[in-house]
Amino acid sequence: MTGLVIVGHGTRSAAGVEQFAALVERVRGRGDIGDVEGGFIELARPPLTDAVGALVARGHRALVALPLVLTGAGHGKGDIPAAMAREQQRHPGLSYRYGRPLGPHPLLHEALEQRIDAALAGADQAGTEPAGADQAGTWVALIGRGSTDPDANAEVAKVARLLWEGRGYAGVEPGFISLASPSVPAVLERLRRLGARRIVVAPYFLFAGVLPDRIVAQSAEFAAAHPDLDVRVAEVIGDCDALADLVLERYAEALGGDIRMNCDTCAYRVLMPGFADKVGRPQRPHDHPDDPVGHHHHHGHDHHDHGHDHGSVAVVGGGPGPDDLITVRGKALLDAADVVVVDRLAPQGLLAGLRPDVLVVDAAKVPRGPSMAQEAINEALVSHARAGRRVVRLKGGDPYVFGRGHEEVQACAAAGVPVTVVPGVSSALAAPALAGVPVTHRGVAHDVTVVSGHLPPGHPDSLVDWAALARARGTVVLLMAVDTIGKIASVLIEHGRAPETPVLAVQDAGLPDQRSVPARLDEIGAVAAREGVGPPAVFVLGPVVALTTTGPTA
Ligand code: SAH
Repeated sequence: MTGLVIVGHGTRSAAGVEQFAALVERVRGRGDIGDVEGGFIELARPPLTDAVGALVARGHRALVALPLVLTGAGHGKGDIPAAMAREQQRHPGLSYRYGRPLGPHPLLHEALEQRIDAALAGADQAGTEPAGADQAGTWVALIGRGSTDPDANAEVAKVARLLWEGRGYAGVEPGFISLASPSVPAVLERLRRLGARRIVVAPYFLFAGVLPDRIVAQSAEFAAAHPDLDVRVAEVIGDCDALADLVLERYAEALGGDIRMNCDTCAYRVLMPGFADKVGRPQRPHDHPDDPVGHHHHHGHDHHDHGHDHGSVAVVGGGPGPDDLITVRGKALLDAADVVVVDRLAPQGLLAGLRPDVLVVDAAKVPRGPSMAQEAINEALVSHARAGRRVVRLKGGDPYVFGRGHEEVQACAAAGVPVTVVPGVSSALAAPALAGVPVTHRGVAHDVTVVSGHLPPGHPDSLVDWAALARARGTVVLLMAVDTIGKIASVLIEHGRAPETPVLAVQDAGLPDQRSVPARLDEIGAVAAREGVGPPAVFVLGPVVALTTTGPTA
């Protein structure tokens, strides 16, 4: 009889690994299939290669490989087939039929309903709620993993609908714990506004793990902030008979040969808005740390290697701060990264969307003294790339505008590491724009100069011709000038700029605390100090400032 290999994507949660093993045991115990093994493609033991190896050692040349995933996202569509392809290289002549993702399926919806009802009953017993906390008065937030693959997210929305149909819940709304919206707090807030008093948060997850834990934590936080609401979290589906039944059904279906993936809305096949980079993208196997092929020594890092033969570095401009002012190319590289080395001024919100296994290195905290920091960052980039990882160096604004980006590019090039630069929206141009100032305007300014105010005029290391800037008529944008603006303004006036030239300080551009502080050139130093203008801020000066549309906020 055709052997079955059940393939998990892996988790760092010991409970999750145990539940997976228990399910494999339960399926084996059914005795419907002669030979059953389970393995993970990353993060947990046993590795897939051991599971396949065991089956091959027992004489199997044809297998059913069943991805133990709820939705057909990257793991099921790409990573697991890629890992199986590697097993086929290892075991010439090995063939396998690939099973469908588990959901949506009525067995799962029944299991979810049981978990939700158990959450309701549990609190009844605790006496916190009058008996009969019933479905009719209960709203359900069904929380999926979340994916950059819209088709997988749509599956969760579909399950939410199917779970609601014909059952008594007041409503079921989908949400996601990572990579997709609405987030857990957002969907809870939506339900609250719909008038929900009692909400059960149901994780649409097979087993325990880092992400289900995060669902519990975020739900508790929301509940604490809304003591008038009754918010409960249901258990994950877990090892159970329904799941074993479903595995056997998918096995039979794979053998029957009539598997159809939902290719019509697959981002790897069809060009979907915003997902162009995925079409036709080759799938490469993950590396299990216990799998000898990867050849990466395991350093005990809190992340995994992806086993690309050659690592690389992308120096990516993240834009001035908000999540959505990064370029599409920059975001695609970020989504594919194994390691992200991030600056304080880079868009921090994007980090929340990274896969949980991505190693995030805070460049501000790279060990060694401050004077060595850049060198240490360069070394970190080179060493991660040499270990075969895809490294994104995420910087604020544009990497080449006072970002030291080229030093990093040079370091990679010198080390023979492939490196690319992705330009970004610089705060030099974005901060004025976000504050309503056009840095050029027909008939008003035909030049704009971006200047570092890091060194004050007269400093021996300064390379700026302040007198020339004073004589010019156009726009000047000063970065890193919070401490030097007073001195700079006097020198500009001294060399010929009109004292009444309008200046706008723009602080925290693009971020929730964005503010503008206007002043004349001869007063800007005093006004900025009085108003407490602090970094990050740019100062834009010149006749264009008189055109400001939104006006000062303070
Ligand atoms: N490479 C970056 C600039 C790095 S220098 C870019 O292209 O934007 C750091 C300076 O950038 C800060 O001192 C400040 O002058 C400016 N800056 C960066 N982000 C900013 C923001 N959100 N609002 C205002 N100024 C910002």
